[in-house]
Amino acid sequence: MTLNLLAITAALWSVMGKVSLAARRAQIGILLQTVGWVLLMASGLVASGSGLDRALSTLAIGGIGAGVAFNAAAFDRWCGRATVARAPTVVAIAMMAGYGIGFNDYAFRVGWANGLLTLQVGLVLVALCRNTDVPVGRWRWLLVASLVVQMAVTAARGVLGAFYSELFPNFFTPHPANVLFALATNVTAVMSMVAILLAHRDEAERELERLACIDGVTGALNRRAWMERAAVLVADSRRLRQPLCALLVDLDHFKDINDTYGHEAGDRALKLFVDGMHLVCAKDNLICRYGGEEFSMLKSGASLDAMRDYDQRLRAWLAETAPRELGMALTYSAGITVLLDEHDTVDAMLRRADALLYSAKMLGRNRTLDEQMLESQLQ
Ligand code: GH3
Ligand code: MG
Ligand code: MG
Repeated sequence: MTLNLLAITAALWSVMGKVSLAARRAQIGILLQTVGWVLLMASGLVASGSGLDRALSTLAIGGIGAGVAFNAAAFDRWCGRATVARAPTVVAIAMMAGYGIGFNDYAFRVGWANGLLTLQVGLVLVALCRNTDVPVGRWRWLLVASLVVQMAVTAARGVLGAFYSELFPNFFTPHPANVLFALATNVTAVMSMVAILLAHRDEAERELERLACIDGVTGALNRRAWMERAAVLVADSRRLRQPLCALLVDLDHFKDINDTYGHEAGDRALKLFVDGMHLVCAKDNLICRYGGEEFSMLKSGASLDAMRDYDQRLRAWLAETAPRELGMALTYSAGITVLLDEHDTVDAMLRRADALLYSAKMLGRNRTLDEQMLESQLQ
């Protein structure tokens, strides 16, 4: 099993390349467990009960416990949890400390180490079975199955060591519990490795999906992702008979900004604008980089007045922030439209907003129009 773990550790570190935080924790976890088992083997080669035996075995138990704690932290992250549970680390520390202190009592130390390792693996199991905020692949059930087996054989070793010590003098006793342990851990180590690689792939897939939905310059949703979500929002608003407002924005004379200050300054201006859109009111807003220097937004539950208010605040924020952050003024023209009836669609709303935006440009830019305002302007 130790050889197996060594091979897995070497493989994980050499072929995974640049990895995420979770994968790094998983790699460190397997490495520490491997070091633990190597030290435990090494402790069998020195005089039994000597100081060196005590030091090596205690470090070994520490390595195994710390390894499980690192793996637990990786799984927490792969299950989408923002925080890492502390309990596995606390158990690891208690496991090592108790083992080192009670080393001279064989029954105690074997019972203690295996008992707490069983508890630690049980904690990881419970964490894996809990509901998650993100979709988690089937790797988690592979891991759960492996951990259940590991728990069972570790618990069996603990009970034998603690209460039937005479039947169980050391690791090499040909007792069925030892044989089972050796066989089971060989299988579960490989299965855990498969689960870790699948979890790693899942994470990469999730990140790719996220990247496919956002615009790289501003971090706003791209048009494809926005249209999908916007259609759902429109359908929900129609069904619940709630108001919904759309805003379509085009930055004014943006070509001049690029020509005068350079493309990088233009990019910074685009990013600042999106930051402003989020800052002014992040709640219930679906913000999109519609194209070049055009942005669209849906505000659910918002009346025309609420969107006008949003627009005013965005203008005020931009007038105050752009000169300071970009060293230039940044203005925009926009059109606002509301969801009309049960036949209205995102496309139709965008067409109306675009026509209003065009009128805003024609009327001199740096303004926002909605149907009511346009009418009064024309009169
Ligand atoms: P108007 O007030 O009529 O909207 O004038 P405008 O100059 O903003 O409009 P026009 O459509 O002529 O130019 C849009 C410019 O936006 C041209 C293009 O170079 C620039 N642009 C589009 N995407 C990007 C980008 O990702 N980064 C930068 N820096 N510029 C961009
Ligand atoms: Mg444009
Ligand atoms: Mg423009």
